[in-house]
Amino acid sequence: MSSTLQLYNTLSRKKEIFEPLNAPHAGMYVCGPTVYGDPHLGHARPAVTFDLLFRYLTFLGYKVRYVRNITDVGHLENDADAGEDKIVRKARIEQLEPMEIAQRYTTSYHSAMEALNVLPPSIEPRASGHIIEQIAMVRKILNRGFAYEVNGSVYFDVEAYNKKYAYGKLSGRVLSDMMTNTRTLDGQDDKRNPFDFALWKKAAPEHIMRWESPWGDGFPGWHLECSAMSSKYLGETFDIHGGGLDLMFPHHECEIAQSVAACGHDAARMWVHNNMITINGQKMGKSLGNFITLEELFTGSHRLLVQAYSPMTIRFFILQAHYRSTLDFSNEALQAAEKGLQRLLAAGKSLALLKPSGKSTLDVSSLLSDCRAALDDDLNTAMALVSLMEWVKNINSVKAGAETLTADDIARLSKDFTTVAFNILGLKDSSQADGGSVGKDLSANLINLLLNLRMQAKAGKDFATSDKIRSDLTALGVTVKDTKDGFEWSIS
Ligand code: ZN
Repeated sequence: MSSTLQLYNTLSRKKEIFEPLNAPHAGMYVCGPTVYGDPHLGHARPAVTFDLLFRYLTFLGYKVRYVRNITDVGHLENDADAGEDKIVRKARIEQLEPMEIAQRYTTSYHSAMEALNVLPPSIEPRASGHIIEQIAMVRKILNRGFAYEVNGSVYFDVEAYNKKYAYGKLSGRVLSDMMTNTRTLDGQDDKRNPFDFALWKKAAPEHIMRWESPWGDGFPGWHLECSAMSSKYLGETFDIHGGGLDLMFPHHECEIAQSVAACGHDAARMWVHNNMITINGQKMGKSLGNFITLEELFTGSHRLLVQAYSPMTIRFFILQAHYRSTLDFSNEALQAAEKGLQRLLAAGKSLALLKPSGKSTLDVSSLLSDCRAALDDDLNTAMALVSLMEWVKNINSVKAGAETLTADDIARLSKDFTTVAFNILGLKDSSQADGGSVGKDLSANLINLLLNLRMQAKAGKDFATSDKIRSDLTALGVTVKDTKDGFEWSIS
């Protein structure tokens, strides 16, 4: 199969046609969350971005193996090689087992993802479940001369690596510049150079999360898990590695160095990075008081929020920007997204009620072709949404009688609208009765069926039946409005 999709590869710094190694199979690895706190806005953007890529690749006909990990060990404070493990620290504060913390926040991450209609990955490996693979990788790197052991810890030897390969090629850093700019070691450190990073850390006697290794009891370095788990599930070479731009250095740079040191070649062929979210123009941070969890957004319970925003409003808002642009959250911008989403969902409902005509005054094929062209161009969801919203206007024009469509075109438009809005962009109508998309479609269809029966009753002057259907629906929370040529309904 020949691909139409172009993606910007951070590694080559240009857009490239996406051609998987073993089409129709495509392998994608995305760095998942470190599970030590409630999921927040910063989690939503990579999740939605790579969910979109997963959905679009699937739409294009690829069989995608999407691996997204859970970091439940080894991520030390400040992303550094020193300091406490983030999960261990939280467990100490809450007086729980580290695995209770990891489980609790994995569960809350999953429920936030489900609310955002983010599909589960094909495989979701945990770092703590892959200690054997990580130890094997450390051995390989040691054997090839790119690491050294000191006092029960193993460090990656960046200088030795840089003599043979280029360290810093992803982030564009140059080692000689880093050497002049980094602090000198304070003598307490086991590392030969400040930019060396831990592959394996010796566990202090009080450290809870520890495993046996050839170098004594310890735990893996944070960067190592992704190299070990991606190669385990996707092979030594795979198609796409994704993540947030904040992970590019040092995390992804170190992943590349580890894979090349262990195998002699790059693991991922394409690196895709989503840009960051800012809040009212500022970087999000706990110390700045603008740290908003997804739960707070969904319930409106943060002092910066003037109202609650539904998960679908958040998703729509994220999709309104190209994933490589920064995205600024503000109440005004979210309220605008909410309105846009409502218009889109209302048009989706109107589609089922459009009256066919003998001829079409609009070319319905443009909806899918325009949206595909936008998404093929490095997942330009901003442009895809512009095209889709153009069709929202068109649907309203047909409804108002200003434009006409044949029955075949209405059917095709409904199908393409569903494909783009719901299957690819992953939006859904959360206002309808919950029970999965099938249940929601069924409720909408049943309401339309009852209202069509009511129209027949009215036409036959059976006002008792017509009134009963209306009042019973009202009692169920369905507001019915009679219009010139039919009806409209909404769920309160
Ligand atoms: Zn990672």
